[in-house]
Amino acid sequence: VDADSGAPTIFDKIIAKEIPASIVYEDEKVLAFRDISPQAPVHVLVIPKLRGGLTQLGKAEPRHVEILGQLLYAAKIVAEKEGILDGFRVVINNGPDACQSVYHLHLHILGGRQMKWPPG
Ligand code: 5GP
Repeated sequence: VDADSGAPTIFDKIIAKEIPASIVYEDEKVLAFRDISPQAPVHVLVIPKLRGGLTQLGKAEPRHVEILGQLLYAAKIVAEKEGILDGFRVVINNGPDACQSVYHLHLHILGGRQMKWPPG
């Protein structure tokens, strides 16, 4: 079974405000909210609002270039709002080997502590 079935995910419910989330930033195209299981003092997820949109970076097509840029720019806005511009990490887990668990494309914005490199 493909982990990426294309089925709606919990993030669709967050976009629809059907389940609560701690929203950090929102505009027409993207939504940013705190991860329910934070791995750093600041751990925010940035997702595209587009329904039936991109499930994982590995499935991006040329038509997704604009939203990919918007997500990355939203990451900067979130980092600025959260006061972590001196050091933050942007992570995309793509597919089972990277432990992707929610198949709605999302950026992890992590900060507020010293990061280590390389990540595990
Ligand atoms: P992935 O492992 O797919 O890269 O990341 C999915 C992330 O979504 C995880 O860090 C997980 O804690 C977070 N997450 C899963 N379900 C929910 C939820 O219902 N609300 C919030 N705020 N975060 C969630």
